[in-house]
Amino acid sequence: MVNFKNDCFSLNKNLLSLESALEKIEKFSEPVVSIEKVGLSEALSRFLAEDIVATCDVPPHDNSAVDGYAVCHSDLSANRETLLPLAGRIAAGHPLRQIAKKGNAYRIFTGGVMPDGTDTVFMQEDVRTQGDNVFLPAGIQLGANRRFRGEDVCYGSIILNRGKRVRPQEIGLAASIGLIELPVYKPLCVAVFSTGDEICDPSLNLKEGCIYDSNRFTIIGLLRELGCHVTDLGIINDDQRMISDALVSAASTHDLIITSGGVSVGGEDRVRQVVETLGEIEFWRLAIKPGRPIAIGNVASTAFVGLPGNPVAAMVTFMRIARILVLRLSGAIGNLNPTLYRVTAAFSFKPRGERREWLRAHLKVDGEGTLNAHLFPVKGSGVLTSMVGSHGLIEINEGVKKIECGDLIDFLPFNELYS
Ligand code: AMP
Ligand code: MG
Repeated sequence: MVNFKNDCFSLNKNLLSLESALEKIEKFSEPVVSIEKVGLSEALSRFLAEDIVATCDVPPHDNSAVDGYAVCHSDLSANRETLLPLAGRIAAGHPLRQIAKKGNAYRIFTGGVMPDGTDTVFMQEDVRTQGDNVFLPAGIQLGANRRFRGEDVCYGSIILNRGKRVRPQEIGLAASIGLIELPVYKPLCVAVFSTGDEICDPSLNLKEGCIYDSNRFTIIGLLRELGCHVTDLGIINDDQRMISDALVSAASTHDLIITSGGVSVGGEDRVRQVVETLGEIEFWRLAIKPGRPIAIGNVASTAFVGLPGNPVAAMVTFMRIARILVLRLSGAIGNLNPTLYRVTAAFSFKPRGERREWLRAHLKVDGEGTLNAHLFPVKGSGVLTSMVGSHGLIEINEGVKKIECGDLIDFLPFNELYS
């Protein structure tokens, strides 16, 4: 449930910093989706609704990490080759079912259960055999090539935490303790529409003065990457009544509504005003570039995000701000902030220094092995080709007034923002 507290930020004219906006999101949002149990494969990309506790050890028994010969280390001479007779053969899945006798070696294969009484395995490449005898070189360490029971997963330990996004490795780990299903949150149901009299569906002929709708498609794609179920509500005109009807009907059947356009201060920017009459806007003026207007609030009890209309601004504000809300509402727990990587600027740039700023860039390794960020040549917040031609965003903190070629800067790969 989103439960934003009304406070000074929605009333005064100050621009909210990115950190304050994210703090508010963190503080007031929690999972709004119910829990279900689904088969392991179906759990991919969902968020775990409970901690998962191991009900067994993995591996379930000590076993050999190599094809070779299992021995008892104390039977070996410390400084000479040791000759031991072969007393048995242990293939994976076929344990010996008896205690190893001292002074014997056992042929063993990768995954074969180490018989009680043995503790060390020689790789087959390291030994010589002659008939039923094996010559073992000196110097092997006690416990070499032995995999211990429970060394991967220990009975009773928490192996997966609630709120974790399920990736292939989480599914594999669950399977490794014999689970066939996982408790997960249902996907977040999100309604998406674009606003603007000039916005035209790509399936229609473009009328004079109009522009094709790209935001709906980028936003739906971003939401799907985060595991959401999306309802595409098309394009709504800059008309208070129509916007209001769309919001009210979407709110009754969705966990979150995301719109683009119409949240700025222009006379035709009606979305924010309509949301204010139906619910509340927690904040909408942020100290960020691009995308100063991004409205976050709720319509009735459904969370609402009004993204800016400019296509780059819509994507960047989704990636850096709305993404965290989407993940929290979906059940994610823990630090959701994307990792920023330090790379070298291959350009110079003078930011105004008043807002958090993002530039689009691609990375290239130069002759000396340095990872350099190259700016996309066109900067406008409507230039969607800059998102296609880049690997990610350069993030410039407030207060930075100058970036020179060779400076270390923060880089945010797009990949970090799709999960
Ligand atoms: P707005 O935020 O509504 O003032 O829109 C800002 C700019 O983004 C305007 O130039 C719009 O034409 C453009 N824009 C708004 N929505 C979309 C959209 N869905 N697809 C492409 N451009 C858009
Ligand atoms: Mg508009």
